Amino acid sequence: MNPDTIFGKIVAGEVPADKVYETDNVLAFRDLQPQAPVHVLVIPKKPYQTAAELAAAEPALIGELIAAAHEVATAAGIAETGYRLVVNTGKDANQTVDHLHVHVIGGRAMSWPPG
Ligand code: 5GP
Repeated sequence: MNPDTIFGKIVAGEVPADKVYETDNVLAFRDLQPQAPVHVLVIPKKPYQTAAELAAAEPALIGELIAAAHEVATAAGIAETGYRLVVNTGKDANQTVDHLHVHVIGGRAMSWPPG
């Protein structure tokens, strides 16, 4: 757990965010620097650092995050055209905020593999 991140402050309401979806356990808000027409971050409200940490503690919450990501994609109108879910984990993957977040990216065609 790492409560001392910018996302913890967003959950606490200390930092503003453009929220698009919220449940008791999950919050989704638009990325400050969108990399596509739709770029939303889905996070657990509890400050787990990684998906592995969350899965070990609350496996059902992983399902809630993925379901929330699909809800976000559906509301944004990209569920049919397609979207990408990304969970950067650790230094080599460029995880810059140590509070688990699922990027929901879509609204344009994307290449593979990522750089
Ligand atoms: P990471 O590189 O850790 O996978 O992604 C972190 C993401 O958080 C980046 O896409 C970055 O633009 C976004 N981000 C960082 N700080 C803030 C913030 O204060 N508000 C919002 N909405 N997004 C942020």
